[in-house]
Order: sequence, then C-alpha cells, then structure tokens
Amino acid sequence: MAMSTDVTLSKGYVPKWPGKCLVCHCEPDSTTKIVSRSQNTFASFFLPILFFFGWKRIELPVCQSCKYRFYSQRWYREALCWIFVIAAVWLIMPHFQELSPLYRKIVVGVLILVAISPYLILEVIWPRIFDSMAGESEICYEFASEDYAAEFRNLNRHAVISSDFD
Ligand SMILES: [Zn+2]
Repeated sequence: MAMSTDVTLSKGYVPKWPGKCLVCHCEPDSTTKIVSRSQNTFASFFLPILFFFGWKRIELPVCQSCKYRFYSQRWYREALCWIFVIAAVWLIMPHFQELSPLYRKIVVGVLILVAISPYLILEVIWPRIFDSMAGESEICYEFASEDYAAEFRNLNRHAVISSDFD
C-alpha cells in the first residue's frame, strides 16, 4: 500500500530541496510556491476561523512542464473533497432540522465524516505528489515518493523534528 512518507521540520526553517522536480524527478527548470495548509478542509468546516491560521508559503522545485500536473492533482483533490462534503450536507441536513443549531452541527459533522471517509482513505492510500501541513511550530512535508523524502530528509537532517525514517 502506498502511503506518503513524512518529514517534519521546524516552522521557521527554510528547507533545502533536492535538485529534482517533485513530479518527474528530473532537474527542475522552475519553482512554484504553495501555501502550506494549517488545517484540513474538514476541521475548517467545524471551526472556519482555523482556516486563517498557520498558513505558510513554501517554494518547491517543480519544472515548468510538470506544473499543470502538480496543480491539477491538488485542485481535483480539493474539489472532490468539497463535492463529498456538500453532497453529504445536502443529504443529511434536512433530517436534523429539529435539533438546536450547535447540536445539529456536531451530529451532521460526524455523519459527514462517515460520508467522506472513502475520500479520506483515498488520500492515505493514494497520496498526493506532495502535500504539507503547518502546525504551531513545525511543518510536516508529505511525499508520495519515499526516495524523494529520503533525500529531502538528508539535506535537512539538522532541522528534522521527526520523520518516517526515524
Ligand atoms: Zn518535472
């Protein structure tokens, strides 16, 4: 089963990247910037305010010709998640109208978690090329490629807080 290989570094640290494109592993002719998510989409549903904390921009080596593939995977995944969530809300919400708003949010939230669990499982067994999650003082870098993760870990070993290799 393919799962992402994770390397966690301290948040203030700017990581060194292997001289390889994240997508094709060739020598990259470009870089791209993404925003490291602080929370997953699901947590933000409960506490929308979380959405605005912990963001951090990181620069990644991705060649020009791979950018489309890199971004389309991210967009499709996000869109897929939202389709699951919206469909679940739309189907589940009418059945709980008589509950108080807070209680309804909790009940519906749990049911949505069940409804989108196939998506969450998909994210685990079919990891994104690269993803990252920003915590309070660290950032978790998640790689689909174990080799790439190993190189990344070696380059930044003095700043590693934890990794799947430890
Ligand atoms: Zn490439």
